Amino acid sequence: MIGAGGVATVAAFKIVQNADVFTEFMIASRRKAKCDALVDAIHKKGYTMDIKTAQVDADDVEQLKALFSDYKPELVINLALPYQDLTIMDACLACGCNYLDTANYEPKDEAHFEYSWQWAYRERFEQAGLTAILGCGFDPGVTSIFTAYAAKHHFKEIQYLDIVDCNAGDHHKAFATNFNPEINIREITQKGLYWENGQWVETEPLEIHKDLNYPGIGPKDSYLLHHEEIESLVINYPTIKRARFWMTFGQQYLKHLEVIQNIGMSRIDEVEYEAPLADGTGTARVKIVPLQFLKAVLPNPQDLGSNYEGETSIGCRIRGIGNDGKEHTYYVYNNCRHQDAYEETGMQGVSYTTGVPAMIGAMMFCKGLWRKPGVHNVEEFDPDPFMEQLNKQGLPWHEIHDGDLEL
Ligand code: NDP
Repeated sequence: MIGAGGVATVAAFKIVQNADVFTEFMIASRRKAKCDALVDAIHKKGYTMDIKTAQVDADDVEQLKALFSDYKPELVINLALPYQDLTIMDACLACGCNYLDTANYEPKDEAHFEYSWQWAYRERFEQAGLTAILGCGFDPGVTSIFTAYAAKHHFKEIQYLDIVDCNAGDHHKAFATNFNPEINIREITQKGLYWENGQWVETEPLEIHKDLNYPGIGPKDSYLLHHEEIESLVINYPTIKRARFWMTFGQQYLKHLEVIQNIGMSRIDEVEYEAPLADGTGTARVKIVPLQFLKAVLPNPQDLGSNYEGETSIGCRIRGIGNDGKEHTYYVYNNCRHQDAYEETGMQGVSYTTGVPAMIGAMMFCKGLWRKPGVHNVEEFDPDPFMEQLNKQGLPWHEIHDGDLEL
């Protein structure tokens, strides 16, 4: 596993809980001390698995190749940042390793994500007989598997898909992001995008919003965003006439975000700055990326867990033609309490809902259930064994048939 952040911490806890499937395990990240601290936290909870750790800069293909050639992993679980997807895929190809991630590639200097960069590896993975599983977190990940499950069991034709993501939690901070702040702010400040009648429709950032009711939570203002799973789902389910993604944000969060943008702190280009030297001997002209600097002063998402109350609710609202030839609606969702996630892993619910599916995807691969040479989005695999594991591994799901979708 590469990365030792919030999502990786949860995945590591879940991997050691499934020691019958995962017999050997290494955690490698930019800082080895962080991997060692994670292993300590796992052992303190009473798990005894022997876990190796290593330092690796995942931006550097040669370092990755050296690590993979030495440790010889069967599967590399990429829980670093989207910037590292391609270097890790290159090293996997060079060393004969299979691959899994939770977020699609983004270039560092452009806030733009799409699958084309990773889909370009299809032939090479196929020819090498290696499996690459893309987007195996919650969204993307479970939301795509929910859609595959609906298509397999309940619909002849999925026509309308709305993915709804609510975080009704309160971490008691004025402003904090739930996962890597740099990635999160880049995602939310982009233009909105959705699929309708065979084409993409663009909106201004956060332009479209409406109140949606979430089970056990109530109404929450939900904003239309571009989200990566829509890109592969409309290709894999061509009967979809409209596909959209909605996420809730509180007014406090949006107010801070607006100020951050207005004062230039969300910029991702380099600016020059006269900085004092650490040894106090003078100053130097340095280049900093404002958004990366902001990350350094914002609360670390990994530290939000202890005071986090409330829960998340993420699911798919689907309308289409059922197996009986009539129109039906279907809502499949999971609710996850931040405090439950914290008690089990020391992390909050957003890391939990991402790390658990990453582990289940790895489990599907290790059990031989999801093995298919090439590069695949998760909806291209059988959803049933994955859905069964969600119920067993802490993310139980619920269904509402023929209810009001509000959308
Ligand atoms: P964090 O920032 O907490 O963790 C990232 C980890 O990767 C850190 O340990 C970091 O090291 C390490 N890392 C960063 N750069 C490198 C590098 N060059 N080489 C080696 N290691 C590196 O992020 P999260 O845990 O919140 O998120 C992890 C991933 O999960 C992201 O890609 C995110 O987009 C994705 N995600 C997916 C979701 C989904 O539902 N699909 C939802 C939420 C997140 P260090 O600790 O030293 O900084």
